[in-house]
Amino acid sequence: MFNQELPPALSLATLFFLCGHVLSVTTDRFCYAGQSCYPSSNQRAVFAKSINNRVVLPFDEEYNRLVQLQNVRETRFPNLIVTPTSTEEVQKTVIFARKFNLRMSIISSGHDYFGRSTWDGSLQMNMRNLSDVHVNLTSSRHADGEVSVGAGSTWLKVYTKLDAHDRVVVGGSAHTVTVGGYTLGGGHSPMSRMFGLAVDNLLEVELVLADGSKAVASADGTEITSPDGNVNKTTDSGLFWASRGGGGGTFGVTTKFTFKIHQAATGMVNLGIVFPMLLANGTFIGDTVLEKVSEILLNGPAEWGGYLLTDGITDQDGSVGHIILFFNHYGAWDTASRRYMDQLYNFHPEWSKQRFYVNYTSFLEYEKTVIDAQYYRTYVSNILMNNQSFTPEWRKTMLNLAFRFPRNSSVVRATGAWIGGKVHDVGINDTSVHPGFRESYLALTTALGWEGDGEHEDDFIAEGIKIMNDLRPYGIGSYRNEGSPDTNDWKGDFWGSNYDRLLAIKRLYDPDNVFTCIDCVGK
Ligand SMILES: Cc1cc2nc3c(=O)[nH]c(=O)nc-3n(C[C@H](O)[C@H](O)[C@H](O)COP(=O)(O)OP(=O)(O)OC[C@H]3O[C@@H](n4cnc5c(N)ncnc54)[C@H](O)[C@@H]3O)c2cc1C
Repeated sequence: MFNQELPPALSLATLFFLCGHVLSVTTDRFCYAGQSCYPSSNQRAVFAKSINNRVVLPFDEEYNRLVQLQNVRETRFPNLIVTPTSTEEVQKTVIFARKFNLRMSIISSGHDYFGRSTWDGSLQMNMRNLSDVHVNLTSSRHADGEVSVGAGSTWLKVYTKLDAHDRVVVGGSAHTVTVGGYTLGGGHSPMSRMFGLAVDNLLEVELVLADGSKAVASADGTEITSPDGNVNKTTDSGLFWASRGGGGGTFGVTTKFTFKIHQAATGMVNLGIVFPMLLANGTFIGDTVLEKVSEILLNGPAEWGGYLLTDGITDQDGSVGHIILFFNHYGAWDTASRRYMDQLYNFHPEWSKQRFYVNYTSFLEYEKTVIDAQYYRTYVSNILMNNQSFTPEWRKTMLNLAFRFPRNSSVVRATGAWIGGKVHDVGINDTSVHPGFRESYLALTTALGWEGDGEHEDDFIAEGIKIMNDLRPYGIGSYRNEGSPDTNDWKGDFWGSNYDRLLAIKRLYDPDNVFTCIDCVGK
């Protein structure tokens, strides 16, 4: 009955439910199972019937799989999971939750690093069944066309559909990340330097608001249809702006996103190079390599994007640490922009452990080679780095932290997403992501990962916080989707000068804070 990959706590939780206990002793302002305010079994049954019984309960076999978060240590246990297949079912669910003052959580893939998509005892809306993809090549809003996507769709599904039309869209690198939370927080991509962030490409969103109304929001305004069918149209585009970086789980349940799509390039080249930090002969090369990489990140043409990865793992040949460059070129092999990277390919080839160019026919072919992360325990933090950030001190900090192993079973990995290019062409207040995105070249995420089932958790978290604080001086903000829950100033770190407007929009559309999550606007 139980998925063997799950931590033992899950099985225990299920037993609690089977015995009729309330799992969490939650004392916030919402109503939970076991309290007299909680809907009776008859009321729950009537609700379930109204949404075609798309309900998963703790004793259902599917439950364990649905509640598991990518970062397993953040897994929690909703009391009721709803898997709507239409906007109407989402509306009915919000109205039901509102009527009984149930805490809602919204989950698309469960990749959120600090568990904002779940809550013990909540009514969880799982968006996986809202995953249709519609391509429109004759859009009046964008010459290359547009695509409408259900919130629960994975990016690989969208890429595959678009590839058939010779089109691409700005989306996530990992295949299992879904459109919902990724986009609402900003969304960087292997193609961001060519086409901007995901939110820069957003044309329209459809969402269900706290009172069960359906809203369709774009730069032209907002159309709201109340549950009883009244339509109100305004030119206020605040809700659309808030959906462009203000974060998931905050303004409503977003059911559909419409993005600009782009004509596919004639090719896609991938460059991979692996350098150690310390050669097997004892020569330390990490600083020289990172200095060269910094120069490339600050000056490379927009056709190139991709990732800088580091870790401090020792290889069998005695070399220590890795600096991995995984860059992608949007365009054919025989171009000046592709050749720009030959200087990196030819940079001390005698040091590199691996180096290759691969010439793909399409973005989809390249994307298929990306390997998704497994489930893990991790502590993540992020900084946005501008042209002042790539100092010798930063390089030293990066190299030092790779060698911090608080316990044997842990490793510190860093993944920097190369931004800049078109991301810098958008005004700092045109979308609601942190303004720092518009001058940054790297969104650098560090992840302290460890094995085990919760032992020494506090030690690991303390170490994760130290890592965050060590890197903080080199950042000008933090990416909301990859940041830490322990910054001293989450409003400023995640949204900077955009926070106050976000809060005003939150107050307008959700004055009672029906949608709430950890370090989310209006919390
Ligand atoms: C392996 C991995 C790879 C990643 N790769 C990238 C990448 O390439 N680029 C990048 O920018 N980020 C990346 N991220 C970070 C990613 O953007 C965040 O984890 C993001 O929150 C994932 O969104 P989700 O909907 O898939 O996850 P979820 O955990 O389901 O949701 C995240 C948040 O959004 C809310 N939410 C989800 N769906 C909706 C909805 N329909 N309406 C309203 N709120 C909603 C949730 O309540 C939660 O607060 C990656 C993360 C992981 C773990």
